[in-house]
Amino acid sequence: MPPCGADGSARICGRLAPSPTGYAHLGNAWAFLLAWLAVRARKGVLILRLEDIDPQRSRPEFAAALLEDLRWLGLDWDQGPDVGGPLGPYEQSRRGAAYAEALARLEAAGLTYPCFCTRKELRLLAAAPHVDDAGAPYPGTCRELNAAQREALFRSGRRAAVRLRCPGESVEFEDALLGPQSFRLEECGGDFALRRSDGVVAYQLAVAVDDALMGVNQVVRGRDILPSTPRQIALLRLLGHNAPQYAHIPLLLDGEGRRLAKRHRSLALRSLREQGVTPRRIVGLLSRLAGLNPRGVPVSPAELLPDFALERLPGTDQRVTDQDLRQLAP
Ligand code: GLU
Repeated sequence: MPPCGADGSARICGRLAPSPTGYAHLGNAWAFLLAWLAVRARKGVLILRLEDIDPQRSRPEFAAALLEDLRWLGLDWDQGPDVGGPLGPYEQSRRGAAYAEALARLEAAGLTYPCFCTRKELRLLAAAPHVDDAGAPYPGTCRELNAAQREALFRSGRRAAVRLRCPGESVEFEDALLGPQSFRLEECGGDFALRRSDGVVAYQLAVAVDDALMGVNQVVRGRDILPSTPRQIALLRLLGHNAPQYAHIPLLLDGEGRRLAKRHRSLALRSLREQGVTPRRIVGLLSRLAGLNPRGVPVSPAELLPDFALERLPGTDQRVTDQDLRQLAP
């Protein structure tokens, strides 16, 4: 089977891309439920891809738990590490050859350079304030080193990261929820890393390569990842691929307005399940916050399909209040 969309059909191909760095929580459930609905409502193909590229942060037991918890919630996928499929492997940790090939192409085109800066040096050099998750923009210290300087640094035993020489022009795209977007890559971290100095491929490269090779043409993910999108689009274009359609959904926040994250241990799907909360109640709450189920009645994801449209999602981040959580309990 060719990658979805490569056969010229207009079929939607989406992905769920969890990172197995902790247990899935309510915020993940929100994002994955909406990504699942966006694909299933249009009879598309859904891929589950494990983003376990970072060996220091990913753990196999979290990977197994993630798949189990998402299935418990009522989500499914057509291709993935547990069900197989023609576009595998579906774990980024096993896709190193594809990333190496893409990196070699960018290197051969003169679009990369080695960067010898240490984390400490980068911290000291970082004059600009943080730009969302992109961190302080890279100031370009190693961009113009000449061959002799590079050679000397390599010989002194310094290990180098590989950075992309970012194109100067703006990256523009149309977000299905946010409308027209335009970013200068300098606003999004400047020349970003493609491979860390310890040899680990960077998230931006892995995601761009995988979305292209898996034929992903619809990406539904949280707004916190928006600053990564121009970087991924730039890479896709340099590698000769089309960018998917992106929809950056509002975030789920706790009662104090903080983004739900792994630190909210009690909101892990496992903890909720142990407290006797049913998946239908969770989906009922999430779909109410998404504006799909006004009274928040317990439902399965599949029951939400007939009326689902991405465009109907709320424009703003949504809060899960203590009262919402009390109502989840049996
Ligand atoms: N693996 C990322 C995460 O769990 C998602 C990346 C993406 O959707 O592109 O936050």
